[in-house]
Amino acid sequence: MQVLFGGTFDPFHNGHAAMIRTLCATFPDAQVSVIPNRLPPHRQASASAQHRLHMLSLGLPERQQIEISRIEIDRAGPSYSVRTLEDYRHTFGDREPLVLCMGADAAGKLDQWHAAARIPTLAHVCILDRDGESAVIPEFSGQLTETETAGALNEKPCGLVFRLQTPEVPVSSTQVREMIRAGVDRLPVPEPIQHYIQTHALYQDAE
Ligand code: ATP
Repeated sequence: MQVLFGGTFDPFHNGHAAMIRTLCATFPDAQVSVIPNRLPPHRQASASAQHRLHMLSLGLPERQQIEISRIEIDRAGPSYSVRTLEDYRHTFGDREPLVLCMGADAAGKLDQWHAAARIPTLAHVCILDRDGESAVIPEFSGQLTETETAGALNEKPCGLVFRLQTPEVPVSSTQVREMIRAGVDRLPVPEPIQHYIQTHALYQDAE
């Protein structure tokens, strides 16, 4: 099973870390790919792909099951998840379960994703719900079928939606960047990332 967790990670923070811990605990036999996306060049106040990749390597736990994927960083043009899923399908074949993971906020906007209707034919979707909340996923053609057991995702390659409760870690990268500009001392990011941000004076410019 291939578990895919994409994001901007600009920067990686404690909320992302909690999500990845939950994913590794829920899918202990899966390969978990953390996939930073490509940002438009010269996006103001954001860090370069090299910095974002480096921060990921500093912040992720050392576990064999986790890998950082450059697939979207190295591909020209916008980072469409459907394109990434097609590449994974090509690499791993028709039978491999692929699990596209996202936070509740991202799941709520799933219908705005490029070629979203193709997702159920390519992968399962795993939605990480915040404590007690249940994200409403929009309707789009090619339905996803709800399942309540993580094990069910292993039994077919795609087409299911599974909800996972994660501990509430109320932080976003936007908030981290704002805290840096406001001169906050202790950031809600793993310690080595805080050090890296300071050393390289990242995120100092106005947004
Ligand atoms: P930004 O504030 O720049 O939009 P972000 O903090 O939302 O960034 P992303 O890199 O865009 O981070 O998010 C990657 C994934 O992580 C998304 O699926 C998002 O829903 C999820 N996520 C982000 N922050 C949290 C959090 N605190 N708890 C749970 N999931 C989160």
